Amino acid sequence: MNIAIDGPAGAGKSTIAKAAAAALGSIYVDTGAMYRAMALFMLQRGISADDKAGIERTCEEADISIAHKDGAQHVFLNGEDVTASLRSEAVGDMASKSSVNAKVRAKLVELQQKLAETTPVVMDGRDIGTVVLPNAELKIYLTASSYKRAERRYKELLERAAASGTSSDEIPSLEEIEKDIIERDYRDMHRENSPLTQAEDAVVVDSSDMTIEEVTERIMRLARERSAGK
Ligand code: C5P
Repeated sequence: MNIAIDGPAGAGKSTIAKAAAAALGSIYVDTGAMYRAMALFMLQRGISADDKAGIERTCEEADISIAHKDGAQHVFLNGEDVTASLRSEAVGDMASKSSVNAKVRAKLVELQQKLAETTPVVMDGRDIGTVVLPNAELKIYLTASSYKRAERRYKELLERAAASGTSSDEIPSLEEIEKDIIERDYRDMHRENSPLTQAEDAVVVDSSDMTIEEVTERIMRLARERSAGK
């Protein structure tokens, strides 16, 4: 069974999708990481977000693939494992801007569809239930308020700084993070190509006041119901 999980940044999609994939014995596919790998390549080449021709040229030269090691997804860009370089704000920002491009989307959607043909997946992104896997057996639209999502991201950045022994002075404020989240939501929801929207047959889950365990349990219950044909 294929499960599509869509929703805005920071709603908890990847955490929940990973847990669901492990419980179901499926492969977890993080499609955002593919858009991030493409964005990293553009940054490495010095392409700016408004250079449409440059983005399309770079996209053609990018060979992106994924592999799984111990259940974790690794993303390869032209043969190099770039997984550890994908989570920065700069890469996320470029991914949000370059993913509006139709050629970038077509190339990555094809890769995602091929993956789901060969193995059961839990795939997360923005257009999985609407474009990539319109026939997925279960579609979830996972959302949360922008404030809650900013708060989670802020805590994550603080924890990461503490763990690596770096100063937390460079971490943006909660207000800045929320402003950035609202801007990205707007861009994802209003772009011409495959905007983030709820598929008609998606189940909406608002994780604002739910724990990770509660959301995972809800999704597992829905998956069990669907596989029993309900
Ligand atoms: O989910 P994540 O924050 O890693 O995604 C990075 C960016 O890639 C998003 O802001 C979004 O614009 C884009 N994206 C997309 N379609 C997907 C997954 C991600 O447009 N299926």
